[in-house]
Amino acid sequence: MPENIITIDGPAGSGKSTIAKILARELNLKYIDTGAMYRAVTLLALQNEVDCEDEDSLLELARNTDLELDSKSVDTDKYTTVRLNGKNVTDEIRGREVGSAVSIVSKLYGIRKYLVDLQKKFIKDGNAILEGRDTGSVVCPDAALKIYLTANLNERVRRRVLQVKDREQFSKRDLIKNEIISRDRIDSNRKNSPLIIPENAIVIDTSEMSIREVADRIKKLYLKKKKC
Ligand code: C5P
Repeated sequence: MPENIITIDGPAGSGKSTIAKILARELNLKYIDTGAMYRAVTLLALQNEVDCEDEDSLLELARNTDLELDSKSVDTDKYTTVRLNGKNVTDEIRGREVGSAVSIVSKLYGIRKYLVDLQKKFIKDGNAILEGRDTGSVVCPDAALKIYLTANLNERVRRRVLQVKDREQFSKRDLIKNEIISRDRIDSNRKNSPLIIPENAIVIDTSEMSIREVADRIKKLYLKKKKC
C-alpha cells in the first residue's frame, strides 16, 4: 500500500537514517535501512574472500545467506540490527573495510535486483519508511511521499565525524571526507539505479536545519498527503 510509504534518498551524511528512525517511531512505520543490506552483502564478500566484482559468486553467497533486518524496535541512537545467518553483524557492517567496498558491490545489477526484491517483500504490507539511494526511484516509485535529502559536503563530513568518533574506527576527517566523496561519485555515476532525485520527490537541503526541523517538515508533508 504505497499510500503509507515514505522514501528518503540522498548522499552519504545527508541525515537519512537519523530522520527516518525518528519518523518511523513517531508515525509508527517500519524502518527499512536499505544501505545496511548492501553493507551486509559487502561484508559477506569480504568474509568469504569473494571478489567484490564477482557478481555470480556474490549472488550465490547472498542467496544462500539469511539476511535479517531487525526493524521491530527502532532506537534512534543506534543502527538497525542486522543479522547474517543469525549472527549479529551490526557493528561489522559499519567498519572501514565495508565502507570502502560497499559502492563497488552496489554497482552489480544482480545484487541490486536481489536486494530490491527483498525490500519489496519487507514493505508489502505498507506502513514503512525506507531510506537509501534508489528507494523512491526504483524500490517504491509510487510511495505517498518521496524525499531527497541533501546537505553541503562540509556539513555531511562533520556529521559523519561525529558518528564515527565514539566508535573509534577512524577519526581522521580527511579519510572520512575522501570516503564520502568517493562513494557519492560511484553511487551517482553507476549504470544501475544511480543516486538521483526521484521523479516528484521533494528536495530538502538540511545543511542549516536542525534534526527536529527536518523531521517536522517531512511529517507535515506526509500527514498532508494522507489527508488528500
Ligand atoms: O546508506 P549507507 O551509507 O549505509 O549506504 C551504503 C552504500 O550502499 C551506499 O554508498 C551505496 O553504495 C549503497 N546503497 C545503494 N542503494 C541503496 C542504499 C545504499 O546502492 N538503496
